[in-house]
Amino acid sequence: MLRVDIRDLHRGPVRTDGQIEPTDPAFEGLSLGLDGPVTVQGQLQPTGDGEYLWRGHVHGVIRGKCRRCLNDVLDEVDIDVDAAVFTTDPDAADDPDFYPLPDRPSSVDVSEVVREELALAAQAELLLCRDDCAGLCPKCGADLNAGPCGCHPTPAEPV
Ligand SMILES: [Zn+2]
Ligand SMILES: [Zn+2]
Repeated sequence: MLRVDIRDLHRGPVRTDGQIEPTDPAFEGLSLGLDGPVTVQGQLQPTGDGEYLWRGHVHGVIRGKCRRCLNDVLDEVDIDVDAAVFTTDPDAADDPDFYPLPDRPSSVDVSEVVREELALAAQAELLLCRDDCAGLCPKCGADLNAGPCGCHPTPAEPV
C-alpha cells in the first residue's frame, strides 16, 4: 500500500511496497509515457512534529523519444529516494523540498513522491536509442541509422 493510514504511522515505521499502474490518477497531468506499472518499495516513518519521512526505491520504464533520431525509446529508471519529507507545517507549503500535508492528515500518500521523482527523472534523462545513434539527416530528415541518404555521399576522411 502506498497510502498509509496516519494511525498506523503513529505506531511506528510502515513498509510501503506496491505498484502504480500508468493509468493511476497519481500520474494524471504528467506528460510522461510509462511502459508498464511502476514498482515502489520503501518505508515511511514519523519523525515527530507532524513530519513523516519516506525512504525508498522507485523502478519504472519511461517511454520517450531518442533525442537524435526521434524514434521511440524505452528507458529503465531506478531512483533511490533518500529522504522525502511530508510535513503538516504550513510554512513549508511553498518549499519544494517538502510534501505538504493538511493540518490533520488522515493518511500519507507516497505515490506523490513517486510522481515527482519520475517527472524529474524524465526531464533529466537524455534519451538515446543507442549510444552511437546516427540521428537524422539535417537536410532531408532521413533516419541515418537505416543507412546513408541520397544527399549525403560519405566524404573520404582527410588523413
Ligand atoms: Zn536514435
Ligand atoms: Zn539527407
